Amino acid sequence: MLFKSPRGTKDILPQESGIWLKVEEKARSVFSLFAYEEIRTPIIEESKLFSRSLGDLTDIVQKQMFLINKETDTFVLRPEATASIVRSYVENTLYNVPAVSKFYYMGPMFRAERPQKGRLRQFHHIGCEAIGSYSPYLDAEAIALASRIISSLGITGHQIIVNTLGCLNDKKSFALNLREKLLPQKKSFCEDCQSRMAKNVFRVLDCKNKQCKDIILAMNLGVSHICQECRKHFDDVRIGLDLFGVSYEVNPLLVRGLDYYTRTVFEITHKDLGSQDALGAGGRYDNLVEELGGPARGAVGFALGVERLLLAGGGAIARDGEGQSPDCYIIPLGDEAFKACLKVLQFLRDSGINTDIDYLEGSLKSKMRRADKSQAGFCLILGDNELAKGTAVLKNMRASTQEEVNLTQLVEKIKVYKPKDGIKSC
Ligand SMILES: [Zn+2]
Ligand SMILES: [Zn+2]
Repeated sequence: MLFKSPRGTKDILPQESGIWLKVEEKARSVFSLFAYEEIRTPIIEESKLFSRSLGDLTDIVQKQMFLINKETDTFVLRPEATASIVRSYVENTLYNVPAVSKFYYMGPMFRAERPQKGRLRQFHHIGCEAIGSYSPYLDAEAIALASRIISSLGITGHQIIVNTLGCLNDKKSFALNLREKLLPQKKSFCEDCQSRMAKNVFRVLDCKNKQCKDIILAMNLGVSHICQECRKHFDDVRIGLDLFGVSYEVNPLLVRGLDYYTRTVFEITHKDLGSQDALGAGGRYDNLVEELGGPARGAVGFALGVERLLLAGGGAIARDGEGQSPDCYIIPLGDEAFKACLKVLQFLRDSGINTDIDYLEGSLKSKMRRADKSQAGFCLILGDNELAKGTAVLKNMRASTQEEVNLTQLVEKIKVYKPKDGIKSC
């Protein structure tokens, strides 16, 4: 019987994992630049955590949770990380410091939805949360951070869209207003929207259906539902963005589907991604810490989809990425030579040279073919003749030159060709 990976999941094979490492490394260095520190929370959480924070009526909670029932407890594979991080922040009383806590994370998330291009059941997020301040400039900094991670990967052509949802009161009155305006035309909307009107009316605003979109646009929804304080907050977010040199667009129709968002929301889209066009999204959630049992704390965060980043910038990232090929590939010829080679292998590795050795049977020609395939910078051939002399044949695979070298000079010879950014450039 042949097994396949579960629908909507993907193996990240060695030839791709180099790019993944590159993306993660770049993100880490940008997070450090912005003084964020890594947090790692469990993959499983209590299911109530998400219904409480994302909202009972959201698509994620209603349709997309991977449930694990264990006796009386129900866990889920986390569908996103914000709720987990706030849970951890409260549980570990991290709020007892007079500072903004800045966390970043990366890892798999899970949603049981219909797999399609750019949408998997196990997908990966790189994201962050800054908890402990209501400052609008923190929102601007978070957006600047997301933007910098994206451009550090060589991705161009993305667009940042921002909006404000206002505080809880504003959201409530907007929901009432919106429902009032939509209901008379209910029949003209798609079926999804009709049910959204009852449960999660904001989602009508980001329906992809053309007819729904047109009605919404014609309604010319303003910002009259946003209170003065929230308007001021949003103005300051925009001032911050200008100061950080981030270009963006305001779209009053941008809403995020999760209940916890208040005030600033943003989305980063890319033209190459088709209908699933968001590279990432985020926003402020000023009530969530309290909602999950902590003190009142303002917070803002975002998540970028790694698969989406790769779709949008895979080429650029790959060109920039170093391979994971070894510096040196050892070919032993004969049993005695093999033992000597193991010592050389150990010695080279101790000297910081990434080294592999040929374990397979076969002719010298087939061994050379494997050395070639490994894309090693050097190949070291050692047979009985060389063993007797304490030498080996060192082949520079890039330059196609070879010389007999004394084993004591080996490291020197290889390291000469190993400049700072790896041996592959020689
Ligand atoms: Zn308000
Ligand atoms: Zn619709």
